[in-house]
Formats: sequence, structure tokens, C-alpha cells
Amino acid sequence: MATGGSTTSTARQPLVKVTGLRKSFGALDVLKGIDLEITRGEKVSIIGPSGSGKTTFLRCINQIEKPTGGHIEVDGELIGEKLLGGRYVQMEDRELARLRAGIGMVFQRFNLFPHLTALQNIMIGPVKVLKRSSREAEGEAVSLLAKVGLTDKRDAYPEMLSGGQQQRVAIARALAMRPKLMLFDEATSALDPELVGEVLNVMRQLAAEGMTMIIVTHEMKFAEEISDRVIFMDQGLVVEQGPPHQLFSAPAHPRTQAFLRAVLGKQAFPS
Ligand code: ADP
Ligand code: MG
Repeated sequence: MATGGSTTSTARQPLVKVTGLRKSFGALDVLKGIDLEITRGEKVSIIGPSGSGKTTFLRCINQIEKPTGGHIEVDGELIGEKLLGGRYVQMEDRELARLRAGIGMVFQRFNLFPHLTALQNIMIGPVKVLKRSSREAEGEAVSLLAKVGLTDKRDAYPEMLSGGQQQRVAIARALAMRPKLMLFDEATSALDPELVGEVLNVMRQLAAEGMTMIIVTHEMKFAEEISDRVIFMDQGLVVEQGPPHQLFSAPAHPRTQAFLRAVLGKQAFPS
């Protein structure tokens, strides 16, 4: 049920509810009507060809991109708009900022502030956005650095860190906002192969702690291992979704089969 924001969250309510989501850039229809519900604690991986709209989908969820149509609710609250007298109207910036603070996003490029240390990168959101005291934010940042295995790098600047270390700082920075939901957009795609594992391990740990996660990834093995559900997107639509074992070993749709054949190098799928 769409609400203006006063709902109490219940365990049964989906954490994310996307209905009829559309996004166009000019004449280019990138998302063509996505419906999706994600339950609390669920890990959902999104796979699909380049250009199918995966990044745009994540960016719409946290409103970096403004959808062209449809609605998104996170934890029972509409995001980006609100219902006023039965009509959808744009949400105020302050309200949007509050909701966005509850959604962590990790990008392919780590986007750390180059002039801030690892510790400062993690502290800045809680201090500036959540108005926490520096002391409290620092305490939390220190424990987040420990959590991602970077205690000894607290005073290092991003340029002194490997890609894997930078990405782990980026994850800690997102977690510092105490998000309800974490979005990962090809978090390991820019990393040298030997650095992928350390980032995936942090994601595994988060998953084990019960974080709700939407993971766009090309790491098929990881998606199979970590996900409760895998979604195959193509040309702006969810073509097929299911439990990982089913989707990877017996995909039903010819487009899913073709994609998996290409990325996994499989000859054929049993019909
Ligand atoms: P994916 O992440 O699955 O590779 P994207 O969501 O990045 O796909 O892109 C889907 C399509 O939308 C692509 O054709 C891309 O060029 C286009 N697109 C994405 N962002 C923009 C933008 N800001 N302006 C115009 N076109 C865009
Ligand atoms: Mg992308």
C-alpha cells in the first residue's frame, strides 16, 4: 500500500516494492515496466547483457535517476514522490535526502573523496548528513574499518590503497549510514582479478548478517552462491527470475539461455 510516510514497518511488508517502473532518456526507453518486490533480508542478484538497464534500475531505486513512470517504495515509504489528496507529487529534497540515506550504494568505481583519509571518508556522511557528533562517527568508522579488514589503513588516502582496499572503504562508507538496503553495481568489475575475492568476502559477510542486498554482477558463481533469487534483465525488462540453481542450470527463456551460454561457455541447457 502506498503511503505518505507514516507507516510502521512490519516484517511481512516487502522492503522494496517496485511497480511499473519506467525510465526513458529522450526517445530511448531504457526501463520498460519493472515490477519487483524484495523482502527484508533477501539477496537478489541482477544479471543481464550490457545496456539492458541494470545500472539505471539501481539508480532509480535510490533516485539518482528520476523515473519516468511507476512507483518505488522502500520500507513502506514512497521514494521521490508522495501521495497528496490522491495525487502523486514530487517529494521535497529534505525528505528525499532522509530516505536516500537509508540506501547504500556501491559502484564499480569507488568514488572515494581523494583528499580524505579512509577514516574521514567513512565519517563524513554520518557527520554531514546524519548530524552525528565527530566522536560517535569516528567510533563507528573505526569499527567499520575493522569489519572490512582495514584497521591499519585508517589514515591512508585513497591513492595509497589498492582497488580492493578502496572498494572495501567504499562499502564501509555506505554502511556508516546504517542503510536498510545495499545496492551493489558491479562492485568488483574494475578490480584486478586477485583483488576480487577480498571484496566478495565483505559482501558475503554482510549477507550473512542479514542485510537486504541487490547485487548487479558479472560474477555468476558468486551470484549463484549468495543469492536467494537471481533476476535476468534484458532490454529494460525482467525476462526471467528464480532461485539461483534453477536460473543457472535450467533457464526457461531462450534469451536467458543465450546469455548464460555466452558468459558461462555452456553448450546447451537441458530442456
Ligand atoms: P547496464 O547497466 O545493464 O549495462 P545501463 O542502465 O547502464 O545498462 O544502460 C541502459 C541504456 O541506457 C544504455 O543504452 C545506456 O546507453 C542508456 N543510458 C544510461 N544512462 C543514460 C543517460 N544518462 N543518458 C542517456 N542514455 C543513458
Ligand atoms: Mg551497468
